[in-house]
Amino acid sequence: MRDKVGILSLGCPRNLVDSESILGGLALRGYPIVDIDKADVAIVNTCCFIEDAKTESIDAILDLIDLKKQGKLKKLIVYGCLAQRYKDKLHKELPEVDAFVGKTSLNHNLAAFPLTPKHYAYVKICEGCINNCSYCVIPKIKGKFTSLDMDSILGRIERLDKNKVSEVNIIGQDITGYGLDLYGSRRLPELLKKIIKMSPNIGWLRLLYLYPGRICDELLELMKNEPKLCKYIDLPLQHINDRILNLMHRQATKQDIIRLIDKIRTKIPNIAIRTSVIVGFPSETEKDFKELLDFIEDVKFERLGAFIYSREEGTPAYNFKKQVPPEIKRERFNTLMMQQQKISQDVNKEFLGKIIDVLIDEPSSCAQGLGGKEGSSYLGRSQYDAPEVDGLVYVDSKKTLKPGNFVKVQITDTLEYDLVGKALL
Ligand code: SF4
Repeated sequence: MRDKVGILSLGCPRNLVDSESILGGLALRGYPIVDIDKADVAIVNTCCFIEDAKTESIDAILDLIDLKKQGKLKKLIVYGCLAQRYKDKLHKELPEVDAFVGKTSLNHNLAAFPLTPKHYAYVKICEGCINNCSYCVIPKIKGKFTSLDMDSILGRIERLDKNKVSEVNIIGQDITGYGLDLYGSRRLPELLKKIIKMSPNIGWLRLLYLYPGRICDELLELMKNEPKLCKYIDLPLQHINDRILNLMHRQATKQDIIRLIDKIRTKIPNIAIRTSVIVGFPSETEKDFKELLDFIEDVKFERLGAFIYSREEGTPAYNFKKQVPPEIKRERFNTLMMQQQKISQDVNKEFLGKIIDVLIDEPSSCAQGLGGKEGSSYLGRSQYDAPEVDGLVYVDSKKTLKPGNFVKVQITDTLEYDLVGKALL
């Protein structure tokens, strides 16, 4: 009997894809896949993008080391970003870990074991990053930008379509750069057209992580006209002050960003734009931060995530002068999130009374006090909500629904980040 293997996947959906691929490869070789607490061999797929992620990874490793000391675990393998970046140091400090395995290979993508529910999937189309943002360790950890060839991606899509997966999320650090290394030009629209043509069963295609400077008209046109493409743009902007953008080595200026947002909203009026911003970047003044707040208040992003700047060794920004004190960074983060909470509430109110398509994710164990009885309430998402990061739609239904079903839902109530509605069946 082979050892049972379990994986703990930390960090972003891109890590989840790697975890699924690793398990897929192991399952093909006959290893039984189990929950991490029942495993003989535990793999931790780590993240070290920012300080908080590093702490989470180390804590998880220490918990598993405890299990190993108690004799409940035979082997412990640490995989991914943290292993790649700190292998030598960790080796010395954590001798209980049996192996540290760094860089991922895109070919892992070919065999997948679903850690995600069966009705949605992530498909990674490129690895590494073509940009060199001054605060970011990803180009260092993941190496040079590499696109996966179209045939391999289409093969994976074909299998997902055959399995009637309802939603596919196309991911990569910067999917707008897809094809540059492999074909000498950007090929994301072409790839998407091929995917759409060959996937009659996939209901939604969602694009995650688009670099602002590389969003082309062809892509926007496709998003506007193709119902399968979620009207959702994940557009990390990081800041709006030109001096800070320049220090961050971002390629767009404030003017470029404003023009791009106008263009997107004019072309696709019902689109949800998600962005992420960093607060407390070195030398960010109160005035710069206020400029960011005002910009967010003006644009009213439908979705927004904020990060506190994390000083990462080996990045140019690590040595920048005028690092912002931690308490000021935290204060700015709280101020910004309070403001966004109100914006999100207002954005959600616009949905009251409207009928929208919802993808059912799972039954809701509590009736939510939203008018539904136990067993008749479900958690779902609109096309404006990416799995695991955005809000939910609480659905009350007279008929039984299954994960992966698409239903029309009339919105009857709105919360800060979520919606509530009744299925129209
Ligand atoms: S685009 Fe994103 S992943 Fe790439 S270097 Fe910048 S922050 Fe890092």
